[in-house]
Amino acid sequence: MNRCAAVLIPCLVLMFHSSAFAKESQPKNLQASIIIDDFGGGIGGVRDFLEGEIPITAAVMPFTENSIKHAEWAHKNGLEVMVHLPMEPKKGKRSWLGPKPITVALSPEEVRERVLEAIETVPYAVGLNNHMGSRAVESEKVVRAIVEVAKEKNFYIIDSGTSSKSKFPEIAKELGVPLLKRDVFLDDISSSAHVRKQMRRLAKITEYTGKGIAIGHVGATGKICSVGVFQSMDEFKERKIKIVPVSKLFGSQMIEKNFIPK
Ligand SMILES: [Zn+2]
Repeated sequence: MNRCAAVLIPCLVLMFHSSAFAKESQPKNLQASIIIDDFGGGIGGVRDFLEGEIPITAAVMPFTENSIKHAEWAHKNGLEVMVHLPMEPKKGKRSWLGPKPITVALSPEEVRERVLEAIETVPYAVGLNNHMGSRAVESEKVVRAIVEVAKEKNFYIIDSGTSSKSKFPEIAKELGVPLLKRDVFLDDISSSAHVRKQMRRLAKITEYTGKGIAIGHVGATGKICSVGVFQSMDEFKERKIKIVPVSKLFGSQMIEKNFIPK
């Protein structure tokens, strides 16, 4: 090897290493959101989440006894609020849907009126997601009426992911409404160990894609969910993943002022 190559090769190796190192050492902007559904309805876990240190996003059922109270409570403590819109499922008890759900039997005008009314009973809401809805989210007619209202109100939409045939993504895209999909359900099995496992999945997805969305619940098993979420927070800190209100995940897709409630 001549002298030139003897100098050049180590130099190239060093350059490669230093650029790899530079990439590695760049601060990552890992953001995850934890949406907690069913505020306004159940009681379990409500105080834990609304008075806790974690900036969860509170999805509040409309038309319930505690809709306004829980939305105001969340907002007072700096938490983002969204409407948790009850939508007709394929299976499940009618009582799980709560009052005035969105069903496929409604006309587009009735859906529109119901969504507008729902937004009225959840003050400070800046977005919406679906409660149940495996049947209604597959109806183009129903979903279009909802997305049109979201557009008028500058709401974002989170597709809770209760049907793989949901029309939300395609219609939101068509109408230019910001939409993201739920990645992980935290408490589909009600044990705190399971919630911790699901939080770890959320962390992995966030590390892989830069952002992630989990959904948990208050209500009958709300305490179990809150315990599992709070126990996972040290791990999120270690992995440098920030929990943020869900509107922050849209980043430059939407400017923040669009999410100020009207
Ligand atoms: Zn729900």
